Amino acid sequence: MTRRVSIFGATGSIGENTIDLIARDPSAYEVVALSGGRNVKRLAEQARSLNASLAVTAFEEALPELRALLSGTGIETAAGPEALVDAARRPADWIMSAIVGFAGLPPGLAALEQGTTLALANKESLVCAGPLLMATARRHGARILPVDSEHSAVFQALVGEEMSAVERVIITASGGAFRDWPLENLPDATLAEASSHPNWDMGQRITIDSASMFNKSLELIETREFFDIAPEQIECVVHPESLIHALVGFNDGALMAHVGPPDMRHAIGYALHWPERRELPVARLDLAQIATLTFRPPCTKRWPALALARTVMDIRGLAGAAFNGAKERALDGFIAGQIRFTDMAGVVEDVLDTLSAKGGLENAAITLDAVREVDQVSRIYAAEAIEARAASTAGLRR
Ligand code: NDP
Ligand code: MG
Repeated sequence: MTRRVSIFGATGSIGENTIDLIARDPSAYEVVALSGGRNVKRLAEQARSLNASLAVTAFEEALPELRALLSGTGIETAAGPEALVDAARRPADWIMSAIVGFAGLPPGLAALEQGTTLALANKESLVCAGPLLMATARRHGARILPVDSEHSAVFQALVGEEMSAVERVIITASGGAFRDWPLENLPDATLAEASSHPNWDMGQRITIDSASMFNKSLELIETREFFDIAPEQIECVVHPESLIHALVGFNDGALMAHVGPPDMRHAIGYALHWPERRELPVARLDLAQIATLTFRPPCTKRWPALALARTVMDIRGLAGAAFNGAKERALDGFIAGQIRFTDMAGVVEDVLDTLSAKGGLENAAITLDAVREVDQVSRIYAAEAIEARAASTAGLRR
């Protein structure tokens, strides 16, 4: 029997890896919808080769080109945020949520509302609206399977276990591009330097977030929301080899580690075939050759984003949406050369301080409208905080 699948963020790094797996067994899948952003050429190629029913670009201005590229194929085309939500409502048995950023939340929610299985790579959804996402899944009998490698690792370590026996979850961090840089050099880090990851091949935004550990911060919050465990049970350790993806510590002292090569096709494939395990085209580790695995404590001087994540987990409510919105705007600012690499954490901290002082982040009802509003407001405050720092970036090395 063929499975109906849709892939949101098909043209990205996770999307391409998902397609790589699906394309190995084309007769097993019927592709309902594919979505992309600006790269409509690639989206059209994917839609043709997988014979998708629908191709959606997130941007209205890209629609004419997408239409032209797919004319005569019978493949439907659409554009814009609403079209993404409509596409997520099309019946499918398995939906990959791999849009980057806040934009992934509305289609993710729409997918859950049809009671499907959602493979969730878009961590921002959980960070901004964890309780809403989980409640929507429960209400509609949908299932969320984690795709972020750390959360997939925890999920796998928990198979057959009782949550009541879990003492702690340890999320590993590679440390990203600057883990061994002298601290005093960090303010001068360039965009190119921040965009190169030592172990993983990922999209540019998550790669920069790995260097700043904003990515790990999002993942700590994601862990809290997905597994519903207390913040003090969530630890982070720097593990430069990126071979252990996460560990779960149980009440008898046992630690179950998930070990594998840094290849997202493992976590995607696990979510695709769950609850079965099927053969996947990932490298097999030769432990004798690897010989050593190393660990170090995370330093909050180098990675202040980690301390901010703790604040967000303590406040909860809409703090995750504020954190993510400010982080996305700060990242835009760094990419555009408006602020230094090391300014990003300060911008996010300013926004959290301002919004906390105003009140209303904690104990707030997490509706899509409330999350959207906080996302917008936090971006505006972040833009102001960026402006305030702009003067100091005059001599920025690009
Ligand atoms: P990429 O930047 O490689 O891809 C992002 C995808 O989203 C592309 O299809 C892009 O389209 C599309 N897109 C961009 N902006 C918008 C928008 N405003 N609205 C709708 N679609 C948009 O990202 P990744 O694949 O690296 O990451 C995707 C998600 O998965 C992120 O949430 C990330 O944190 C998470 N993740 C990624 C991992 C990885 O290994 N890459 C690991 C774990 C989690 P286009 O390119 O056509 O413009
Ligand atoms: Mg991860």
